[in-house]
Amino acid sequence: MSETLTVIEPATEAVLAEIPRAGAAEADAAVARAKAAFPAWRAVAPADRARLLARVASLVQDNLEPLAVLEARNAGKPIGDARGEIGMVVDTFAYYAAAPERLLGDTIPVAGGLGFTVREPLGVVALITPWNFPLCIAAWKMAPALAAGNTVVLKPAELTPLTALRFEELALEAGLPPGVVNVVAGPGSTAGARLVEHPDVAKVAFTGSTAVGRSIAASAAQTIKRVTLELGGKSANIVFADAEIERAAAAAPMAVFGNAGQDCCARSRVLVQSSVFDTFMDALHWAASEVVVGDPLDEATTMGPLISAAHRDAVASFVDADSPVSMHGEIPDGPGFWYPPTVLSPVDPASRAATEEIFGPVVCVIPFRDEEEAIRLANDTIYGLSGSIWTRDGGKALRVARAMDTGVLSINSNSSVRVSTPFGGFKQSGIGRELGPHATDAYTESKTIYYATEEH
Ligand code: NAP
Ligand code: MG
Repeated sequence: MSETLTVIEPATEAVLAEIPRAGAAEADAAVARAKAAFPAWRAVAPADRARLLARVASLVQDNLEPLAVLEARNAGKPIGDARGEIGMVVDTFAYYAAAPERLLGDTIPVAGGLGFTVREPLGVVALITPWNFPLCIAAWKMAPALAAGNTVVLKPAELTPLTALRFEELALEAGLPPGVVNVVAGPGSTAGARLVEHPDVAKVAFTGSTAVGRSIAASAAQTIKRVTLELGGKSANIVFADAEIERAAAAAPMAVFGNAGQDCCARSRVLVQSSVFDTFMDALHWAASEVVVGDPLDEATTMGPLISAAHRDAVASFVDADSPVSMHGEIPDGPGFWYPPTVLSPVDPASRAATEEIFGPVVCVIPFRDEEEAIRLANDTIYGLSGSIWTRDGGKALRVARAMDTGVLSINSNSSVRVSTPFGGFKQSGIGRELGPHATDAYTESKTIYYATEEH
């Protein structure tokens, strides 16, 4: 491995680390290690595998602060958010520590005997993850994959590999055998693409853009690999006239400016019923002006920089002289990939800003007349990941929730992700679900065994 991967701190543009850059050869070597480790790992007794995963959870907990600082600096996210994400890594391993002993099958009476099913691990699983929630998204994949008896090769995004590399060390320290968790820090086009093609990889679990997800699905088809995809979004936050307008407006900014908008669940289209539009906008502007953009390590910061200069330029391309900018927040002077929290209102629902995933702190506000129009606007997108509904009418809330083509949504709340509930998208937001009680299904095959009890 001769090349160097230079890791940049987005808030300062300074070099945070120089590490070896993995390529196709390192991906091959990691798959070979994972393949060699698989037979012994799948044979570990379920209770022992459970204990090892619980030990991973407690070691990450012991290292929460340094991991959070590393994540905050590398991804440019507020330290409070980073602590929450590393806390979720702990919770995810703690939750799936119960899974090895709950890989249940069915017993089915059939003529002349019994049919029953067992869940078998897949083998070597490749995990390809983005830069927005680096270790957290990796944990959502690693914990159920390992619990089910697979070995894993994790390829973090080239921009944010540092917490994954530290995790690889902690997994060994926790007692996971060498080769069970392997991290390959290199570009998607070489290391990532090789994992997707590799004949010894049984499955790819991917989180990232819809464009890359599409190419991964196409490449994985050559070897009929199992694929789960968590992709982009353009989610709607629907505010009805009978909502608690102050609460809805107070919550709306962080539903899209959280993680500087670099969140697949960002509710980046706010749909507001026309009769309360002006009242809502006044409250929204006030709430958005409370966002504190600055140093990720400052406890008062609520929004950091974007991940890179290229990404900042891509976000900026959605806002030009003709855009209906109703608010532009403040950003720090000096270096860093900053972009201000920006409100566009009222936005043409057919415009580029309202239809494409911006993945930055830009929110489009769109008025609607009635429930039917709100549902139509919300569903008028290739995506279907998240969403929120604000109303005091419980029946309407559930009616709209059922009508929305989206995988995860909240009523009178910004909540979208919990370890114990399934997460994933409809339409081009992805295939499959992560988290929750059934996530191990996506890392196992069902095997049917017929046992004859009568002679024929
Ligand atoms: P991305 O460009 O799709 O990259 C995601 C990962 O795929 C990175 O590790 C990347 O590696 C790798 N990759 C790129 N090309 C590849 C290829 N040809 N073969 C194999 N791997 C390849 O996404 P991103 O820019 O990191 O993240 C932003 C996107 O992710 C947004 O669209 C967002 O909506 C989506 N996202 C979705 C979810 C969800 O759960 N639905 C969660 C978070 C983010 P390198 O970057 O190292 O080259
Ligand atoms: Mg990318």
